[in-house]
Amino acid sequence: MSDIANRIAALSVEKRDLLMRQVQERRNTASATFEQYDVAILGGGMAGLTLALQLKKERPATRILVVEKQKHPVPEATHKVGESTVEIGSGYLRDVLGLEEHLKTQQLRKFGLRMFFSADDNQDIARRVEVGPSAPPSLHTYQIDRGRLENMLGSTIQQQGITFLDACKVKQISLQQNYHSLQLQEQDRAFGIVARWVVDASGRSSLLKRRLGLVKDVAHNANAAWFRVGQTIDVNAWSNNAEWHARITDGDRSLSTNHLVGPGYWIWLIRLASGSTSVGIVTDPAIHPFEDINRFDRALAWLHIHEPQCANVIEQYRADVQDFLVMKNYAYSCRQVFSSERWCLTGESGVFTDPLYSPGADFIAIGNDLICDLISRDLNGEDIQARAAIHDQVFLSFADIWFGIYEQQYALLGNVQVMAAKIIWDVAAYWGIFGLLYFHDQFRRLGYNPELTAHLSRFSLLSIRVQAFFREWNALEQPAVTDTFVDYYTALAFMIELHAGMVTRLPAAELQAQFAANIQFFERLAGQMVSEVIEECAKHPDDAAMQRQVQFWQTDPFLANLLSLYQQGATSNPIDSNWINLAHKNKQAVEPNTRLVKS
Ligand SMILES: Cc1cc2nc3c(=O)[nH]c(=O)nc-3n(C[C@H](O)[C@H](O)[C@H](O)COP(=O)(O)OP(=O)(O)OC[C@H]3O[C@@H](n4cnc5c(N)ncnc54)[C@H](O)[C@@H]3O)c2cc1C
Repeated sequence: MSDIANRIAALSVEKRDLLMRQVQERRNTASATFEQYDVAILGGGMAGLTLALQLKKERPATRILVVEKQKHPVPEATHKVGESTVEIGSGYLRDVLGLEEHLKTQQLRKFGLRMFFSADDNQDIARRVEVGPSAPPSLHTYQIDRGRLENMLGSTIQQQGITFLDACKVKQISLQQNYHSLQLQEQDRAFGIVARWVVDASGRSSLLKRRLGLVKDVAHNANAAWFRVGQTIDVNAWSNNAEWHARITDGDRSLSTNHLVGPGYWIWLIRLASGSTSVGIVTDPAIHPFEDINRFDRALAWLHIHEPQCANVIEQYRADVQDFLVMKNYAYSCRQVFSSERWCLTGESGVFTDPLYSPGADFIAIGNDLICDLISRDLNGEDIQARAAIHDQVFLSFADIWFGIYEQQYALLGNVQVMAAKIIWDVAAYWGIFGLLYFHDQFRRLGYNPELTAHLSRFSLLSIRVQAFFREWNALEQPAVTDTFVDYYTALAFMIELHAGMVTRLPAAELQAQFAANIQFFERLAGQMVSEVIEECAKHPDDAAMQRQVQFWQTDPFLANLLSLYQQGATSNPIDSNWINLAHKNKQAVEPNTRLVKS
């Protein structure tokens, strides 16, 4: 026997095993070092898995690796938070990725966004101001069981020839000149791979963002706690008031993303196809300390104080509570998300704004679209240096507009008058601006279309001023409102038009004109709101604070321009003013259960 063999033979059994394992690991590393991919996606959550599928559809020759640290299949119901989708996210899954069959048969069709504002002691849902559709909007959206979706995506991408390593962790990333290299760990096997592109889809692990020091804090600060109950929570059963039930002309209210809203907080109730219901509490820490909701018993006690009707329902299902999670100060941004040095960030690894209005899947849809464009062009030999910078700016500008919708706005949640108008404004703008661009495949082109970009910048300024106006309006004294239904969809012609307009598939020249028309419409809509609120304030000449605020509004040149635009078209092209009239109607004694808006 050689000297080495003698020395190995002399080792204890344990030491010999250890040595063998180390030798094996080295062999694995060496043999896999040359495994090459075009794209390595770090993290196989919704963002990573959908990106892999989209990229493969768009450029079938691409060699893609997805590395996911969790083992598949993952559990249904409790796997992830982020179950409610809106039009862009739903459209991405259904139309871009071709998952309609899965959405129709394995997930639930959603019945729009619905909010119930606080009334008295929140014991009777029928007394609360309800903002929601009376019939399902024509364009389908879905409530997504995330475990079910990710399991399906995990097997679909493998069928498409994508390498999917589950139960495998990204340990190290080294960004290099031609091929980036990654160190991966699969149980006790450590190995390396190389890839031309690296996409960070690792969610809150934010592997690349941390490594590259791209973390950007934001002014928005809110906390969340959530849990799943292994039962269907059906808000229809919360009242036997016939008029309340009759508000819904078609559809099942329990399939909405139902929100119970109060000062500084909102609760979500989302039914899942797997039979569970997701319940979340989202709070402004300035009003509700995190410590009040950060354990299940505390969250339930908090619900008993603020949302007793909901708390009593949860009590009935206490034995069926499946999980409990919390997230403190969940919002953040990023200094850069796409680079011509062949790395990108998608999903929560880069930016997260807020769960109100459920835009999470929209960010994935838009981000992945821009990433696919960059990667495909680069792999096809195009120089993408300028394009990467432009796409980066487009995405981060889009995120900035979204942050503006939330920053300092949680104070409005206790003010139904202002918040009802804000919801209608925000949803209208989402459909008429972002929806129109997305469904006409414009995000990739945006940076190369100066006219559209100029319009979007104009809208961005408008949005900043309107959100500030909501805060200023909120600071004024408002009468309490109850027993009212605000049908923001079926009853408002402009909402139906904006909703349907998103998917009209206009030719390029017409789209440009439609986008310009929508911006003008939003300027007039804002002018109408300012005009109506000022008119309402004029009825209180003795309220000094109110009159000071009115004077400020009247001398603000930005608002003066909006007022003038509104007045110019008020007779020739009137806009239904009922969306802003909640306060006014209340003063005239709102009939119980009357509709705020009528067609
Ligand atoms: C309170 C709250 C409520 C929300 N509600 C909604 C909603 O209603 N609708 C909506 O659209 N969005 C919602 N979101 C956002 C939604 O959760 C995210 O948009 C979505 O989950 C992001 O998906 P992702 O793939 O980026 O991240 P994730 O789903 O977190 O996926 C990241 C993956 O990376 C893996 N990973 C991490 N580190 C490594 C590593 N080192 N190696 C390998 N793999 C790794 C993880 O295991 C994970 O599977 C909500 C978010 C919060 C915080």
